[in-house]
Formats: sequence, C-alpha cells, structure tokens
Amino acid sequence: MTDLVERAIGTAYSRRLTDTWHLTDIDFVRALGGIAMHNPLGVAVWRARSGDFRDLRHMAKLIASRIIDGELVHDHNEARVAINRAANHLLFSACEWCRGAGQVFSGPHAQVCPLCDGMGEEPFDSDDDAEIWVLLEMRKCEAAATAELRRRLAGML
Ligand SMILES: [Zn+2]
Repeated sequence: MTDLVERAIGTAYSRRLTDTWHLTDIDFVRALGGIAMHNPLGVAVWRARSGDFRDLRHMAKLIASRIIDGELVHDHNEARVAINRAANHLLFSACEWCRGAGQVFSGPHAQVCPLCDGMGEEPFDSDDDAEIWVLLEMRKCEAAATAELRRRLAGML
C-alpha cells in the first residue's frame, strides 16, 4: 500500500505524510477508496508501476475496444500492439537525467528537469495515432488519479 502511494505521489511527500502528519496505511486505503472506481486506468497504471500488471491487462481490453470503435486501428491485433508500445514507453522509459521524477534538485530547490521537460520520460518515438492516443490517455488518467489522491490526503491532515 505504501509502495503504491509512494509511486503515486512521490516518496518524499509520502514520508512527510506518515512521519510528520502520522497518516497510516488505513488512511491511505481510505484515500484510495473510490479513485479506482472513477478512474480505473489511473490506478491500473500505478499498480503496473509497482510491478502488478493485472489491472492494466484487464483495462487493455477496454482500451482496445475504444481505439477500434474510434477507428484508430483496424482490429484487436493492431490494438494490442499499440497498447503494448504505449504502455512499455510509459512504464519503462524513465528519463535518465531525473530517473523519471520529472524534476531535479539544485541545492534545496526542485526544478523542472531540462532533459524531459518534467515528463519524466524519454521522448516517444512514434507517429502512430493509436499509440499516441493510448499513451496520452494513460498519462491523463494517472495524473488525474494522482491529483485526486493528493486532494484526498490533504483533506485528512
Ligand atoms: Zn527528466
């Protein structure tokens, strides 16, 4: 649980929540409650970042239907390839300068990483509409889930 939260909101912030404000695992479970229901893809991406790909595999079927219906791909085979490439990029192409954090520290201050411009990823080398759509959708849902989790945790302080 703590691992999932740390990946979602950052290790430093998570430590501050537990050490300074004494939020417990139960608080994190409560904060996460409901996010998965409204935003299953965002939570599936968090889980995948923690090494658990089951939710993301389940979501892949829904994403495939959407990009087939949206005529970004012709069939399930093309959909699978596009989803795999987008997911691999999102999960395994952390920027080497900031190690995926999107920010670097100079002295005590965090700055937006100059190499990836805060994305935390290497640039995505694709001009395929389906791959780009899937990548943006996963990023958008993960960011929304993270913002929602931060909001819920802040409400508990
Ligand atoms: Zn970077």
